Amino acid sequence: MKILVINCGSSSLKYQLFDMANEEVMVKGLVERIGIDGSRLIQEKGDDEFIIEEDMKDHTDAVGHVFDALVDSENGVIKDLSEIDAVGHRFVHGGEKITKSCLIDKEVRDAIEEYSKFAPLHNPANLMGLEACEKLLEGVPNVAVFDTAFHQTMPEKTFLYGIDYKYYEEDSIRKYGFHGTSHNFITNKTAEILGKDVNELNIISCHLGNGSSITAVKEGKSYDTSMGLTPLEGLIMGTRSGDIDPTAVTYIMKEKNLTADEMENILNKESGVLGVSGVSSDFRDLEAAAKEGNERAQYALDMFVTRAKRYIAGYMAEIGSVDAIVFTGGIGENSIGMRKDIMEGFEQFGIKIDDEKNNVRGGAHEVSTDDSTVKVMVVATNEELMIARDTKSIVEA
Ligand code: ADP
Repeated sequence: MKILVINCGSSSLKYQLFDMANEEVMVKGLVERIGIDGSRLIQEKGDDEFIIEEDMKDHTDAVGHVFDALVDSENGVIKDLSEIDAVGHRFVHGGEKITKSCLIDKEVRDAIEEYSKFAPLHNPANLMGLEACEKLLEGVPNVAVFDTAFHQTMPEKTFLYGIDYKYYEEDSIRKYGFHGTSHNFITNKTAEILGKDVNELNIISCHLGNGSSITAVKEGKSYDTSMGLTPLEGLIMGTRSGDIDPTAVTYIMKEKNLTADEMENILNKESGVLGVSGVSSDFRDLEAAAKEGNERAQYALDMFVTRAKRYIAGYMAEIGSVDAIVFTGGIGENSIGMRKDIMEGFEQFGIKIDDEKNNVRGGAHEVSTDDSTVKVMVVATNEELMIARDTKSIVEA
């Protein structure tokens, strides 16, 4: 079975074609600048790159070029589009209506439209990718996999906000959580590595990348997570503020005469470690700048570490017993120093990193000492594979 996984942004589209016989990526690619001058598609097959530079006025155009690249006689990997058995689409916000991956029908489409209010950049873009596939790949099933779905198991005590209950009832204001596909993948993979029934697994899943979130997984299900109504809440991220006193926000708005949209943009795009450091949103740049003595870069790194500690420790107490603390995402998988710094202070609970074992990037490794009371692990995430697996099991059923 061949499954195409599509992840559409407002002006970009990422794709991977999987051969599910061995879960191998046959080819992957990226379309940039959709609807903007200079659109281009870059497809990677092993070490070979195939580039199409042509105007792509919308997502239908972009998907059309993806299909051209897939069947290209020299650079493609399939002879005919009929070889694609199903398409899995990444969707960001399914609200309370979507609790698992599903075939697209009227109900799913309505939920995507309804929750566009909380994901105005993502849900409509995801939908454009879906509509392009429906148009160009007639009769091929489309499956939607939502970032929020995994977190629909959270109980009221963790998903409600401390505001008048009517805002939940009337306006659906609550914590939804994101990165669910990654946390779900990490949960299953960790269970497999530890040889444990996933329904008995308790972990703290730390997805640390450009966007970061930490999830408390109890008995294989999301119990609490750091992102909220939108992906702005929680940890300090590349350009997102994470947790902040709401009064700081309203004060800045009044003081600087900003509209709600302008303020949202500042909190999402100009804050986080970029805003604090004034250097970069990329942790490699921050680590380099801090090493050269840039104080603000050091503050940003220290703030990131401090808040991550706070969530991990809090979640450990929330779920009672923990099998593993698992690091993933660009930073979680690659920054040896960040992992060490975040776990510092947990020795008092008997949780210890082994410096030698921690000297790894990616893959799947235990990095704690043999006598650590809780295992600390690095497990590379694979959201695309998770989407492909869900798509396969849904179309087979
Ligand atoms: P996204 O959230 O966009 O999927 P990733 O999970 O790919 O992001 O994470 C990207 C981030 O990972 C980069 O911004 C960078 O800060 C960080 N990163 C990648 N490699 C390293 C490394 N070797 N050391 C420190 N940070 C790294």
